[in-house]
Amino acid sequence: MSASGETAVAIAAVVRSGRRSAVDVIDEHLARIEAHEGSVHAFNLVTAAEARAQAAEVDRRIAAGDDVGPLAGVPVAVKDNLCTNGVATTCSSKILEGWIPPYDATVVQRLAAAGAITVGKTNLDEFAMGSSTENSAFGPTRNPIDLSRVPGGSSGGSAAAVAADFAPISLGSDTGGSIRQPAAFCGVVGVKPTYGLVSRYGLIAFASSLDQVGPFADTVEDAALLLEVIAGHDPADATSIPQPSPSLVEHLDDGVNGLRVGLVTELIGDGIHPDVAARVREAAEALAAAGATVEEVSVPAVAYGLSAYYLIAPAEASSNLARFDGVRYGLRVDAPTTNEMMVATRTAGFGPEVKRRIMLGTYALSAGYYDAFYGQAQKVRTLIARDFAAAYDRFDVLLSPTTPTTAFGLGAIADPLTMYLNDICTIPTNLAGDCAVSVPFGTDRDDLPVGVQILAPSLGEVTMFRAARVVEAAAPARSSAATDGRFHA
Ligand code: GLN
Repeated sequence: MSASGETAVAIAAVVRSGRRSAVDVIDEHLARIEAHEGSVHAFNLVTAAEARAQAAEVDRRIAAGDDVGPLAGVPVAVKDNLCTNGVATTCSSKILEGWIPPYDATVVQRLAAAGAITVGKTNLDEFAMGSSTENSAFGPTRNPIDLSRVPGGSSGGSAAAVAADFAPISLGSDTGGSIRQPAAFCGVVGVKPTYGLVSRYGLIAFASSLDQVGPFADTVEDAALLLEVIAGHDPADATSIPQPSPSLVEHLDDGVNGLRVGLVTELIGDGIHPDVAARVREAAEALAAAGATVEEVSVPAVAYGLSAYYLIAPAEASSNLARFDGVRYGLRVDAPTTNEMMVATRTAGFGPEVKRRIMLGTYALSAGYYDAFYGQAQKVRTLIARDFAAAYDRFDVLLSPTTPTTAFGLGAIADPLTMYLNDICTIPTNLAGDCAVSVPFGTDRDDLPVGVQILAPSLGEVTMFRAARVVEAAAPARSSAATDGRFHA
């Protein structure tokens, strides 16, 4: 846990007991936002008045003897691609300018039902396309650990909000790594749940077969609790698994005795910074010391994950983003004919990375190229899922770095392909539909956080969290310089 921050579990306990008011908790976090948001820019919008009103309502209900839920009075930051009723939702794009959703995403509803209080909407790469939050139409978010560096992306604002103690927990979305990579860069925990475990209703779609909503937190326990709150069947999402929310917190301390851990050979060698690889091997040793057996395992098809993803994700995006046409949502640039209006609106409304993806995806889906690109990528996707399934026959969880490097400088990566390489370790999990978590584990030579990724098969969250808890407990204590030194370049 970071120096000044309290965990969600601790906050909910004091608020539920009536020893501290939710209003007081919210005021303290709003004051921290007030003090540091100018340098971090984690939020597109801080909903201070709504948060105070919600907190007062939580306090009133507690005084009346109601059970307000497991996240009573806990501040939460919500990625700005999740719909919030009556509150602007922008996807950090100019094309949604002026659009106010008329409903809450299911996850936002569940947060409120659990007593949590949304403090604001966090910045992201436009439509969640990117790995640095530099693709936001509203300017980049900075990494609170070192303001000269990026927080990662696309959920950079949500990761930064937790790292800056603006809120102990936040929600992001992960299509190819957008929760785990920023979690690694900002030194917090981030989870990509099993596809279908968390409702996508009200998540503005990027690539529907890959998108999942998931938690950020300072601790594994908080992440598990938040996932427990948002998970579970939702009839409004046709891909939602028809099962109740699993009990995740209950088994956190079951340990890893006898657990079989596979260190993924393809993700620990070339292209991974030696400091990052060293921390992952230390995490493997920690799991072994706690009773797990650790062996290297080859998952050959993961090497093709990036290529398959950059056909499948843009293909789905090109279709999903067709709805932003100047007629139904947000921005409209007037022109003499409907066609010209649509072209002018989309030209003005989308940024360069979004346009690149739409063009890539349209090309991959076009007649004559469909089989060679989209069809081929789908076959590779199947091979990746098979290779993971074979690995999970022999291992309960897999281990890898979350990212090849630690946080890089703002503006340091100009080339899109180099930027895409950030996700080589995370994308395969999305393609397979499995779950994975990034846990902070020590630092590199520059004192920047390193993330270790623990991967598990579909609906393997309980085991994944048990391993994560052991890795978290073994992680080298963060130097006080790392937390006290926040908000500096
Ligand atoms: N960085 C990857 C991309 O740009 C993943 C994004 C995500 O998970 N939303 O597509």
